[in-house]
Amino acid sequence: MTTPNDPTVSDLVCARCDVPLEMGKVNASYLGQVFPVDLPRCPSCGFVYVSEELAYGRMLNVEQALEDK
Ligand SMILES: [Zn+2]
Repeated sequence: MTTPNDPTVSDLVCARCDVPLEMGKVNASYLGQVFPVDLPRCPSCGFVYVSEELAYGRMLNVEQALEDK
């Protein structure tokens, strides 16, 4: 059975740009190791949404990979 109010990434909106966040690859660093992860981020300003659960007690740093291109 599915619930109509299932939380999805589309529920997240950038507070600065007021646009829905999109899933995208970002580089995250944790304890000195860098690895790519899929996180909701703003397609306009590059803001990356990191949930507390994902932040492992705020020890996870997410780098905005906007200048990789
Ligand atoms: Zn934004």
